[in-house]
Amino acid sequence: MALTNLLGLTQSQMVDFVQEALGEKAFRARQIFKWIHQYGVDNFDDMTNLAKPLRARLAEVAEIRAPEIVFQGDSKDGTRKWVLKVDGGSAVEAVYIPDGKRGTLCVSSQVGCSLDCSFCSTGKQGFNKNLTPAEIIGQVWIAAKSYGLPVLDTAERRVTNVVMMGMGEPLLNYEPVVDSMRTMLDDDGYGISKRRVTLSTSGVVPALDRLGTEIDVSLAISLHAPNNELRNVLVPINKKYNIDTLFQATQRYLDALPDNRSLTFEYTMLDGVNDQLEHAQQLVKLIRRTGIRCKVNLIPFNPFPGTDYTTSPRPVIEAFQRRLVNANIITTVRTTRGDDIDAACGQLVGSVMDKTRRSERYIKLQQVQ
Ligand code: SAH
Ligand code: SF4
Repeated sequence: MALTNLLGLTQSQMVDFVQEALGEKAFRARQIFKWIHQYGVDNFDDMTNLAKPLRARLAEVAEIRAPEIVFQGDSKDGTRKWVLKVDGGSAVEAVYIPDGKRGTLCVSSQVGCSLDCSFCSTGKQGFNKNLTPAEIIGQVWIAAKSYGLPVLDTAERRVTNVVMMGMGEPLLNYEPVVDSMRTMLDDDGYGISKRRVTLSTSGVVPALDRLGTEIDVSLAISLHAPNNELRNVLVPINKKYNIDTLFQATQRYLDALPDNRSLTFEYTMLDGVNDQLEHAQQLVKLIRRTGIRCKVNLIPFNPFPGTDYTTSPRPVIEAFQRRLVNANIITTVRTTRGDDIDAACGQLVGSVMDKTRRSERYIKLQQVQ
């Protein structure tokens, strides 16, 4: 019989497991859950508050298995990228970005992506597979073991934020993603505040509506264009759920929140494509017309092999930003991090074949440093 991988269970699924599979009392679930996520334990023998026979029984029916780290690369700016092997033989990437007291982990949800945004290297790979809950939360577990676990290292909590902005469209792998986010938020898990767990979506509207009824996390919407004509080209899912439909869904999401949080619109700056002042002007109009509570995050395009797009020049990005700021829209420009190790937004590719080539490059990089 296949072993149950306890890493992927939410606390309430763990309760079901200990009661149904082990015939144990519910409180054991909390103990096991804390061992895994707060102490980083992957061996039942280390769970010292469980009786020995229970530990032995656990080892017979269950495992705690994170994806295997096939490569780890450190950027000069402190960004770390892991290439992780997942079931089925392919690989994904997770990226840790330190910034003062903040440590943001960028988590993947799928191998590849079916949505084929024209400027995204993950999209260019096509869809390979959905990650399991253990493969998603396993990325947080691995980073926490590197940078500080919730309980053991309270003084230096190093994974303070999680963004579902790695490879894949999180809302197309709905349940594993939501379950993993529950464990991120759980006080017996990683205890990260709901404002610091952000799901980024290109706009899968029905799933967005469902999300609003099931979990409360922060939201980022990949907009990238201020009108349907252009967005149809850059973000093809726009042909199914256009800008108005998407804005109505995001408004419903905000309305259902218990506080007055705003959402973030992500806007990748593509030279000569969506970065002109007329686009900024249209974006201002769109945001004003809908009255949506939002910030805008401009992302300088990160090039990857085979793309025809180029990054907008700095003065163009700044002029675009100024136009929005003058209209009282909070607008930030994302600093590119980890591009020397191909860890920047949209540069994540994770096939095993790629990994081999990349590994060679990492080795070179490490030799140079
Ligand atoms: N699928 C989700 C989350 C992953 S992508 C989504 O699309 O929102 C995270 C962000 O990086 C998205 O806003 C995405 O559009 C952006 N992105 C993708 N490729 C990029 C690139 N080459 N340069 C800069 N940003 C990119
Ligand atoms: Fe998929 Fe997001 Fe890339 Fe679009 S930008 S192809 S939705 S991962």
